[in-house]
Amino acid sequence: MNSRVSVHVAAYLADRSRLARNGCVEWTGPILNSGYGAAHVAGMKTTAHRVAFIAAGKDIPPGMELDHLCRNRICVNVAHLEPVTRKQNMERTPIAQADACAHGHLFTPENTYVKSNGCRSCRTCNAARQQALRDDGRDWYSKNQRKESRP
Ligand SMILES: [Zn+2]
Ligand SMILES: [Zn+2]
Repeated sequence: MNSRVSVHVAAYLADRSRLARNGCVEWTGPILNSGYGAAHVAGMKTTAHRVAFIAAGKDIPPGMELDHLCRNRICVNVAHLEPVTRKQNMERTPIAQADACAHGHLFTPENTYVKSNGCRSCRTCNAARQQALRDDGRDWYSKNQRKESRP
């Protein structure tokens, strides 16, 4: 995708999304059955988050899938997206039985949040991650809002 198309696409995305309080940039255009945003750019029908990622000049390596770090499928915030292998994507929601999270915070009752899928999650890490996602979201959104779509 050349840079002129990228600028056009960034404006297209900004027009069809809104910044949510949690830092997600949520797609307000049509939604696919899969739950992802549907985008139609440069004669190509694809998912909105994929378009956002490529328009930001990032590559999705062959064989990789684009994963939502925020688990919000309609989110098009590039900072919330990461290419992972299918295997990694499956492993992202482990039934972890360790006593501490990956960062060594103990899963005490106060620090443990049990998600709807039964996985445990560290409140300390979640709070830090949510803050980072909010900051990134604001950055990304304000940057794209200012972009002009003229060539
Ligand atoms: Zn998000
Ligand atoms: Zn933690």
